[in-house]
Amino acid sequence: MITKRIKVYGIVQGVGFRPTVARHAASLGIKGSVSNLGPYVEIYAQGGEEQVDKFIDLIRTQPPKRAAILKMDIKVKDVPAYDDFKIIESAKTSGEIFVSPDIAICDECLAELFDKNNRRYLHPFINCTCCGPRLTILDALPYDRERTSMKEFPMCPECEKEYYDPATRRYDAQPVCCNECGPEVFILDDEENRSGRDAITYVRSVIANGGVAAIKGIGGFHLACNAYDNDAVKRLRELKHRPSKPFALMMRNEEEVLKNCYIEDYQREILTGHQKPIILLKRREDSILAEQVAPGNPMLGVMLPYAPVQSLIFDYDDGIKMPACLVMTSGNLSGLPICRNDDDARREIKAYCDVILTHNRKIRLRADDSVMDFYDGKPYMIRRSRGYAPLPYMMTKQFSGSVIAYGGELKNTFCVAVNSLMYPSSYIGDLTDIKGKNALKESAERMLTLLEAKPTHAVCDLHPSYNSSAAAEESGLELIRVQHHYAHILSCMAENDYVDDVIGISLDGTGYGIDGTIWGGEILKCSISDFVRVGHIRPFLHTGGDVASREGFRIAISMLIDIFGDEAETKCNDLGLLRQGTFKMFKAMHDNRVNTAVSTSCGRLFDAVSAILGIKYEQSFEGEAATALEFKALEYEGEKTFEMEDLIDGDIVATEKIVRHIAEEKLNGTDISKLAYEFHYLLAKGVAEMAIAKAGDLKTAALSGGCYQNKLLTSLTAKILEDNGFRVLLHSMVPPNDGGIALGQALYGMNKINN
Ligand code: ZN
Ligand code: ZN
Ligand code: FE
Repeated sequence: MITKRIKVYGIVQGVGFRPTVARHAASLGIKGSVSNLGPYVEIYAQGGEEQVDKFIDLIRTQPPKRAAILKMDIKVKDVPAYDDFKIIESAKTSGEIFVSPDIAICDECLAELFDKNNRRYLHPFINCTCCGPRLTILDALPYDRERTSMKEFPMCPECEKEYYDPATRRYDAQPVCCNECGPEVFILDDEENRSGRDAITYVRSVIANGGVAAIKGIGGFHLACNAYDNDAVKRLRELKHRPSKPFALMMRNEEEVLKNCYIEDYQREILTGHQKPIILLKRREDSILAEQVAPGNPMLGVMLPYAPVQSLIFDYDDGIKMPACLVMTSGNLSGLPICRNDDDARREIKAYCDVILTHNRKIRLRADDSVMDFYDGKPYMIRRSRGYAPLPYMMTKQFSGSVIAYGGELKNTFCVAVNSLMYPSSYIGDLTDIKGKNALKESAERMLTLLEAKPTHAVCDLHPSYNSSAAAEESGLELIRVQHHYAHILSCMAENDYVDDVIGISLDGTGYGIDGTIWGGEILKCSISDFVRVGHIRPFLHTGGDVASREGFRIAISMLIDIFGDEAETKCNDLGLLRQGTFKMFKAMHDNRVNTAVSTSCGRLFDAVSAILGIKYEQSFEGEAATALEFKALEYEGEKTFEMEDLIDGDIVATEKIVRHIAEEKLNGTDISKLAYEFHYLLAKGVAEMAIAKAGDLKTAALSGGCYQNKLLTSLTAKILEDNGFRVLLHSMVPPNDGGIALGQALYGMNKINN
């Protein structure tokens, strides 16, 4: 006879952990106890040694569906004999904290939702231990109903019975409720005061008739309309002032996805899994979805319903014929944080829609939909939020203390680090507006409470006027500043749990360099405590200030002036770049440095080449010109390697030579897709060769920065490095774009305060 104490860390609260453990114990005749202590579950297992080990193995290999075990601590203990195996009620202790992300509706609940004989038939808030809101309704830990926004809805006797019975699917499920006792949906500011059934039927009729509806879900509001109705989608575009950025789609079921998209097995697994992010899929040529959902884009952003109310929008017993695919775009002003309460919705999205379907369960923390692309058969995250945040990264390197990292200015997320755990937050959005900054401060405060973290330092970007840096300053904590592109590389290292030195290639939009110029095409030799800028792309004059990020032709003209000198005017003219002003005017701005900065931004280089090739002269959203350039390159099917002499010039990648070549060949009438591919290839070759030349003894490279959302660029760079014997660290679950830098900042901060 032996007794072992097992501590299980991870997502072990509110996922049915204790009943599962008790079942495993019963199956093996183990005696002892299991209790939920907040940060971990503690198990005492008594029995024959072999049985106890089998039991531990069962916990490890067959945990409840939604649990995530991050570590198990096992010790032999000397305790008196137990009579049976008991489930013990929660008692709070402190320690490492794990908060479950929100979980999409499970198959069992979905079946009950549409089962006429079930008492939760058509209940918009049905959930169980396997599914439902978590992070977004949480006030504090331990995860108990009292500490969630479900506190306002006392359970009816029947729900209570299920909640306290370990044999049911709803044992210890904090948001459990039913048609009797749960929250209610209603139409916001409705003269007819429609709620419940009437509200859902009304919203369905609005959508079915070509209207736009705002719908409150798990982490905020969406705007929805019929994705087969070109006029409806066009109207939504006009209302939202969003001319061409692709809209996310919600499809009724997998069948509908197959009708419109090509899908691989690894993608299907994510599509139907319990996180339900938006995934990027190739659109089928025979799909008849409105062209307006993603104009000129070969990819569609697709998700399945994850909140029960969304399932009810597709299927209800009111006889209304609904489309099987809806546009489901975040309910917010472009780039700003998603609306999470009725006041936000009134202020920000009422003008964009015909009706607002809301409900009275409060959202404590906003959570936008996550957006996932795929690289080499693996997830390649574009936006990590609902379903994933705030799952922590556990670094093997031991740190102690706590910092909070405030991230960047666009696609903001923040990150709280406590000891060796790093918790990247859900997506906040762009901070160019004060609303964004307020949302960041509010969410950060809430997360610190939730994680019981008391950071001593705030980490932020070097940029003197970022709102994220201002938020860090206003925290009153001691400040640590990290250069933007170094933070990108650190983020990639942290995600890979890699803390030895690397040669980093950070290809990005713009960031503040340590010399006061704009950086963005950087080769950096990095440790977790410092970096050296060992190379970068050829600096150019970033003319036009902020508008240059939309108007790629400005950078193109500026580059061509430097490259071609006296011939520049003819070249610009022949390339069709002078649509919005005379050459003289652009030349004067260039020569007199009007509203001009020195820059090595790789993002702007992409925009310029896109303009030179006549693919995108300007863009209506960030990344539009660069993605169009990538798609064009992917059409190319000829010879796949190219040479260029003297691509490396000291510590400079001679990108101006690439641009000269591309411009000349375009004027010679060379195929555009070939030139688009050649640009990707030569740029990848240039930065990879620079990295190899400067790596010294290092044999590990890390690729990060917004430009590495471009998978062609990623694969070309990685291949050259790998062919030269390098191990290449890439992102997967943390975005390579600015949504990932808070994690890198946090790693830097933790390392700094530990030295
Ligand atoms: Zn469920
Ligand atoms: Zn109930
Ligand atoms: Fe960046």
